[in-house]
Amino acid sequence: MFAHEEVVIRAGVRTGLPIIIAVHSTVLGPAGGGCRVRHYADWRDGLADALRLSQAMTDKCAIAGLDTGGGKTVVALPEGYSFTPESRRDMLHDVADVVHSLRGRYATAPDVGTGPEDMAVIKERTPHVFCTPAEMGGSGDSSPATATGVMAALAAVCARLDKGAALDTAPLKGRRVGVLGLGHVGSHLVRRLAAEGADILAADVDRARRRLAGEVGATWLTPDELVEAELDILVPAAMGGLLTEELVPRLRCAAVAGPANNQITTPEVARLLHERGILWAPDDIVSAGGAIYAHAVELRHLAAEEANARVAEIAERLGAVLDLAEQDGVSPYFTVRELARTRLGR
Ligand code: NAD
Repeated sequence: MFAHEEVVIRAGVRTGLPIIIAVHSTVLGPAGGGCRVRHYADWRDGLADALRLSQAMTDKCAIAGLDTGGGKTVVALPEGYSFTPESRRDMLHDVADVVHSLRGRYATAPDVGTGPEDMAVIKERTPHVFCTPAEMGGSGDSSPATATGVMAALAAVCARLDKGAALDTAPLKGRRVGVLGLGHVGSHLVRRLAAEGADILAADVDRARRRLAGEVGATWLTPDELVEAELDILVPAAMGGLLTEELVPRLRCAAVAGPANNQITTPEVARLLHERGILWAPDDIVSAGGAIYAHAVELRHLAAEEANARVAEIAERLGAVLDLAEQDGVSPYFTVRELARTRLGR
C-alpha cells in the first residue's frame, strides 16, 4: 500500500526545476515540514528524500504530541546548478505556488538549503509557511530551538550513561562529545557544549568550519576519524543515513544522540547498536525542538519562554522512551515506531 497521502511533482513554471512535495499524513492535523534545496545526481533521489523525510516528520510530530502531520518539500537541483539572486527568488515563488495549490493541507518551513529569509519570499505568494523572520510574525531560525532540544536530550542520555542517575545540573561537564557537522544546529551545539565544560571533538566536510572548532576549544578531526573516535556521545548533526551496518561495528562511543534526521538506515542497524550496547537516542525525539518551538509560537501563540519550556520536555520524553525500551529489551528505534503507530491509530 502507498504510505503517503499525496505526492506532487511539478516543474516550476519559472525555473523548470523539479518541485517535489510529499504529504505523508494529515491524520493529526495539516502537514508541516521543511523545504530542502540541494543538489542530487538524479531528481528521483530528491523524491526518495522527500518520501523518507515526510514520513519521519509524521512520526516526529506524533511522538512530540503535536497536532500536525508530516510533509516535506524538496527542490532537486541538478549537479552543478547555481542560482542568481533572481533565479533563487523564482525558485522560491515556484515552491510557494505548489504549496499554495495544496490549500492548507501542507505548510512549509526552512530545512537544509533554506532559511527564514527564504520563507519571507515564499510568504509573498502563500500564507502556508512557518519560520519567517520574527519581524514578519514568524518564529525565525529554528536551529537555536533545535539545539536546545538536543541539549535536553544529551542531559537525558548522560543520566542513562550514569545508570539512571537524576538529571544533573551540569551533565556534560568533562564528557567526551563528538559533533559531526558544524552547520546551523551543530554550531549552536558546540558553543553550548563548550559553555557546559564538555571535552569537544568536531568534524565537518567544510574545512572552513575548523575556525569555529578552534574558537570553542574543540579538537578538529576528519569526519571518518570522528565517527570512530572513543567518545561518550557521538552527535550526528550533518546529513541523515549515517548509521549503517558497515559503520556500527567500528563505533567506539557509548551513545549516539543528535539532530540529523533518519540516522538509522535499516531496522537491522538498530538491532546491531542494541547488541553492541550503544545507547541510541531516536532522532525523531532529539531533533524535534525546532518543530515544537515553531508550533508553540506560531500556532499556540505562546511566549518564547513558554515555548522553550516545551522544547525542554524532550529530556523527560526521551528518558521515558529509553526506560520503555530497556524494560522491553529492545532498541528505542522500535519503541518510538510503536508509540507513533499508537498515536496515529495505525
Ligand atoms: P546545515 O546544512 O546547516 O549543516 C550541516 C553541516 O554538515 C554543514 O556544515 C555541512 O558542511 C556538514 N556536512 C555535510 N555532510 C557532511 C559529512 N558527510 N560529514 C561531516 N559534515 C558534513 O544543517 P542543519 O540545519 O545544521 O541541520 C543538521 C541536521 O539536523 C540535518 O540532518 C537536518 O535535517 C537536521 N535537523 C535540523 C533542524 C534545524 O532546525 N535546522 C531541525 C531538525 C533536524
